[in-house]
Amino acid sequence: FPSRLPKVGTTIFSVMSALATEKNAINLGQGFPDFACDPKLVDAVAQAMRDGHNQYPPMAGAALLREAIADKVRAIYGRTYHPVNEITVTAGATEALLSAILCAVGAGDEVIVIEPSYDSYLPTIELAGGVPVLVSLAAPDYAIPFEALAAAVTPRTRMIIINTPHNPTGRIWQPEDIERLADIVRDTNIVVLSDEVYEHMVFDGRAHASVARHPELAARSFVVSSFGKTHHVTGWKVGYVLAPAALTIEFRKVHQFNVFTVNTPMQIGIANYMRDPATYHGLPAFYQRKRDLFRAGLVRTRFAPLPCEGTFFQCVDYSAISDLPEAEFCRWLINEAGVAAIPLSAFYRDGRDSGVIRFCFAKSETTLQAALEKLMGV
Ligand code: PMP
Ligand code: GLN
Repeated sequence: FPSRLPKVGTTIFSVMSALATEKNAINLGQGFPDFACDPKLVDAVAQAMRDGHNQYPPMAGAALLREAIADKVRAIYGRTYHPVNEITVTAGATEALLSAILCAVGAGDEVIVIEPSYDSYLPTIELAGGVPVLVSLAAPDYAIPFEALAAAVTPRTRMIIINTPHNPTGRIWQPEDIERLADIVRDTNIVVLSDEVYEHMVFDGRAHASVARHPELAARSFVVSSFGKTHHVTGWKVGYVLAPAALTIEFRKVHQFNVFTVNTPMQIGIANYMRDPATYHGLPAFYQRKRDLFRAGLVRTRFAPLPCEGTFFQCVDYSAISDLPEAEFCRWLINEAGVAAIPLSAFYRDGRDSGVIRFCFAKSETTLQAALEKLMGV
């Protein structure tokens, strides 16, 4: 039967994780922690279940969680989103991205995507009937080409998607970058979709430049985050979207017929847990230690690490080792070294090769050391 997405296969993350399992390799491919979350978080969810929070919550999310999100966002970004009509709890960031795109983008609308880009954006735009317009970042510095970004805007542009801290490159936007984006969209009807799932993973004393901090942009933006990333529970699939009331109305029209709502006990448990700022204040230092350990080890290999300002991903140039294309090199690395990675080509629409792969360092020290041992032999 006719496919709506004829060019889409299985996501690279599932493919590489399956291969890693099959070959018993250390999985530094798909981005997820291999360590446990805080037991207090598990207790909070178990308590919510025992307290009887086991039926449908409100469509927009449990009030307790939306209030906790509002308080946190106000405390860290200085902007008040109203829990009743500006915050919606989603089935992970993935659902937030999909519902935001489906509610805002129609047939023939152009959506500017900065690539390398997270793999859900393009198929979702296609499902909406939209036309992706790609602006490319290039290795090794992946600087944002603002002139190309401004030049990509046409009267048909409906949305610009940004992602900071950026998966896969680990680069982050500075406040002046956000300012330049504001200049580009001023006097247009363009909606911004800001994917900020790695908001707490920024290093070397830098701050996360959330679109929520920028009043003018926030007034036309969906800001997306994920508790899976923030609290080391990617399998729980709970995230949220912040958006002004007019956008939230449209967002919920899709959300209610997509998932309707998200599991109750996780929402209540997270709401009670995240009230303590200590549950996220230490995250930059926590991940920076892992980044530093991993980078220090890489220096003793033939992989050349690229800059990493944020996220839990480290990109490396492997040209000193091999001239195989990225995807083939990743297969070779699993088979020969027993370590899984992700090819950067998977994040470009044309699958271009730049001799760069991505490792995830959201792993225990033991895992990172074991992986480094193997990489030293390559
Ligand atoms: N956006 C980016 C940039 C990601 O890396 C991910 C991966 N987790 C997601 C969105 C999806 O997040 P979630 O698992 O909460 O759906
Ligand atoms: N965001 C994760 C990554 O980039 C994977 C999420 C997924 O498997 N869809 O590795």
